[in-house]
Amino acid sequence: LRKHLIKTKKLEVVEQMGAAISHEIRNPLTAANGFVQLLLEDNVNTSKTKEYLSLVKGELESAERVIQDYLTFSKPAMTEVEELNVKHELSHVLAIIQPMANKNSVEISVNFAAVGFIAGDRQKFRQCFLNVFKNAIEAMPSGGRLTIETQFTPSRVIVLVADTGIGMTKDQLERLGEPYYSTKEGKGTGLGMMVVYSIVRAMKGTLKVESRNGGGTTFHFSFPSRKDNRL
Ligand code: ADP
Ligand code: MG
Repeated sequence: LRKHLIKTKKLEVVEQMGAAISHEIRNPLTAANGFVQLLLEDNVNTSKTKEYLSLVKGELESAERVIQDYLTFSKPAMTEVEELNVKHELSHVLAIIQPMANKNSVEISVNFAAVGFIAGDRQKFRQCFLNVFKNAIEAMPSGGRLTIETQFTPSRVIVLVADTGIGMTKDQLERLGEPYYSTKEGKGTGLGMMVVYSIVRAMKGTLKVESRNGGGTTFHFSFPSRKDNRL
């Protein structure tokens, strides 16, 4: 019975996620489609054409951001638990984010413990850190440093992610992870951190965030090590 209950609960979460994603992607696509329809009408002058095209572009970018925050790595309906080498997985995500860091003059420093294995879904783990790294880089519009450190104890694997960015106010920090909460006017989904928290929860991990307005942010993740979280 217990097992059954857990399964039902998980399915619910997956279904909610699925519904939210298709809703969030369908809205901008429907809007884009509407503007294309207007473009196809007969008497559209050049300036109107430009205006509609730029609206279409904005809507497509919006759909793309939602896909990036949710689906870069994973099909949300699938959860596969395997043994993950934390250092290995973080390096993989860092390689993907490196071009974005370069573009923003963000230097990446790593300090990885030699070992550290956890049990979890590889794709979701990568999605989680992609979202966190992306936010960190976006918080440093005029450059800075992104530091990633791992620590290993027999029962936990710790991941620290620190940036030297704009930081958050107390109010912003409190709202972190709330669906659709974003300070990136028109350029954010407000879904990235919600995804992060839900992945951390699914992996039986914890996340603490420290931030100072104007003084950077540190994310403190702790996951049960593989032995303590049964493969
Ligand atoms: P989005 O990035 O689309 O705005 P997220 O859910 O990823 O949505 O983040 C929500 C909000 O949390 C961001 O808009 C930003 O205000 C804040 N935030 C997240 N990470 C950081 C960070 N490293 N530094 C400062 N603010 C952050
Ligand atoms: Mg984000």
